Amino acid sequence: MRVTVLGKSPSWQDADGACSGYLVEEAGTRVLLDCGNGVFGKLRRFTDYVDVDAVVISHLHADHFLDLVPFSYALLYGPRQQSRSPARPVLHVPAGGRDVFRRVVGAWGKEDLIEGAFELREYRPEDVLEVGPLRVRFQEVPHFTATQAVEIAAGASRFTFGADHSPTDALIEFARDTDLLLIEATLPEPEPEGPRGHMTPSEAGDHGRRAQARRLVLTHISDELDADWARGEAEREFGGPVELAREGAAYSV
Ligand SMILES: [Zn+2]
Ligand SMILES: [Zn+2]
Repeated sequence: MRVTVLGKSPSWQDADGACSGYLVEEAGTRVLLDCGNGVFGKLRRFTDYVDVDAVVISHLHADHFLDLVPFSYALLYGPRQQSRSPARPVLHVPAGGRDVFRRVVGAWGKEDLIEGAFELREYRPEDVLEVGPLRVRFQEVPHFTATQAVEIAAGASRFTFGADHSPTDALIEFARDTDLLLIEATLPEPEPEGPRGHMTPSEAGDHGRRAQARRLVLTHISDELDADWARGEAEREFGGPVELAREGAAYSV
């Protein structure tokens, strides 16, 4: 299985960057995990959008789904899509996704844009999805809206994406012994007040160690934070080398 980082920014993009998006490929099957702002253009550098079999959205925050809008326009109006059998990838979204998309694109009177371009299916956290040889599982994690960590596995090889979350044992159990844990490290310091929804690099390292992840990669982190500082914080807690996600980086799992 090959995992390519298309976007690793938090909810605002790095210079020339993109928000959450990862391309997962195995034996000719392609899954796009999250489709935040900026991701569609990055996707096109690595694969043809008509060849994406399925899109899986972790949660309904803008930085994880906004580029479903240009992706939908491409699927509906792209010149090659005017044939009798246009591509219509499956779009797996959390419960309530259809209504959220209708509200967003309804702002300019195109309520059915996304559901018209994709085959939209709402999943439940307990569902297990099969996309070709890939198996997709979910785990609810604490965040500001209903959010799922996502595992994509091919045979015994596992890739775990934490999505956005505050510190949580739920992710540690879900990711136990995973081959690759892509974990958020949004904050320079814990939120000073109110409910928490994100983590620091040192908390990300701690989660990676407790999950005994074989490989740990920090993501959802701004280019405005010092990368060496973040890596050092995470490595101190993880007890081994940690990488920062970088657009275009690919991992074999
Ligand atoms: Zn986010
Ligand atoms: Zn979020």
